[in-house]
Formats: sequence, C-alpha cells, structure tokens
Amino acid sequence: MLRHAIILGGGVGNRMEMQIPKQFIPILGKPILMHAIENFKKFDSKIEIIVVLPEAHILLWKNLCNEFKFDIEHQIVRGGKERFFSVQNAVEHIPNDSIVLIHDGVRPLVSHETIDRVLQAAYEKGTAIPYIDLNESIREITSTGSQALDRSKFKIIQTPQGFKSELIKKAYQIEYSPNFTDDASVIEAQGIEVNLVLGNQRNIKITRPLDLSIAESLMTQS
Ligand code: C5P
Repeated sequence: MLRHAIILGGGVGNRMEMQIPKQFIPILGKPILMHAIENFKKFDSKIEIIVVLPEAHILLWKNLCNEFKFDIEHQIVRGGKERFFSVQNAVEHIPNDSIVLIHDGVRPLVSHETIDRVLQAAYEKGTAIPYIDLNESIREITSTGSQALDRSKFKIIQTPQGFKSELIKKAYQIEYSPNFTDDASVIEAQGIEVNLVLGNQRNIKITRPLDLSIAESLMTQS
C-alpha cells in the first residue's frame, strides 16, 4: 500500500512572538519544518511527502530549501485560513489505496516507534491517533468557580494521525466547524471510530518560545 505524509506548515500563528511563522524558525541551525520532513523520510525512504505552506511563505520556503541544500523531494500545497482548510487542500492530492499520516510540522521529535504504531493501526483499522497521559491535575471551569476532574479519563492527543485515504478524503468534504482542532475530530463527526495508539512524551508541539529551548535540548540529546 502507498504511504503519504502531509506535513502541515500552513499556519501563521503568533504565539511565538516572532516575525516568521514558527515552522521556519531554526533549531540547531535548520528550520523546524526541515527537521520534521527529514524525520519521516528517515522512518521510510519511500513515503511521499506533501508540505502545506501559507501562500505568502512559499517563496521563502523555496529560498530556504536552496540555502540549506534541502533535497528531499516533496509536493507543496497552499494552506488555508484554518488547519482544517490546509488539510482539506492537501488530501485532494492523495490517491485512493494509500495510508495518510497527517502531521503538525512543528513536531519534529515524534519517535519512529510512534509513527510505526500509527501506521500499523491505520492499516488494520482505518484510523489511528497517538495519545499520552496527563501528568498534571486538571479542573473544569464552572459558572460558580471550578471543580476537579478525574485526569485518568483524559488523554493528550498528538500527531501524526493516520487514516486510510478513502476515509479521510471523504471526511474532509464536511462543512467546517471551529470544533475541528485535529483530523480525528473531523473523522469522528462522520460517526467513524477513532483508534488510540500510544504516542511519545518527546513529541512536543513547538508553540511558545520556551518550547524552542526544550526542543533544542531534546534534539541535542538524540
Ligand atoms: O496553530 P496550531 O499550533 O494548532 O497548528 C498546528 C499545525 O497546523 C502547525 O504545524 C501549523 O503550521 C498547521 N496549520 C496549518 N494551517 C493553518 C493553521 C495551522 O497548516 N491555517
């Protein structure tokens, strides 16, 4: 079966307080997005890579690829206003009979064991999303204050999220809802079961300035 990885770099989020979107920020001298793409290609040299980028940054990316002599073959797809629309644009380019891994380009540290678990479960069951347990206590904000929740009932969800291509292509024909924060929520809205597999702690999503130092430190160790 064919395998595709959609690496999402279509966001222009500003939580990083920097001029350029976080996926282009260098860690250990190289843009985060390049680390993420390389990680998938090292996992599987035959995987087809689709990179989603904000239209306004496609030229910047091409210049970065030249500058860093980045020669991993990939198709570039234009991003949308929300993550949902970026994925919607990308899945149009995926053929049937493939397993698609949809991954946040700002998670360069996903382990190959996690990718493998997602791939196998998606192959066997059609859908697979990686989770980790919560370490912190959590509380729900109520109209009168807040109340403690049982954290064992909750999971943190990561990417890559893996799907049979027919399922995900059909799922993304749905109308957008702000509740769609990931691909599993889109799949689930069609009544399709989402299968959980174990993710990994180091698979952090680089979002705020502190995450850059953490990611750099983790990458130096590996
Ligand atoms: O904004 P957030 O941190 O949730 O983004 C998660 C991933 O989705 C990032 O890799 C980001 O580049 C991508 N994204 C996208 N298109 C958007 C918004 C986010 O590809 N419109």
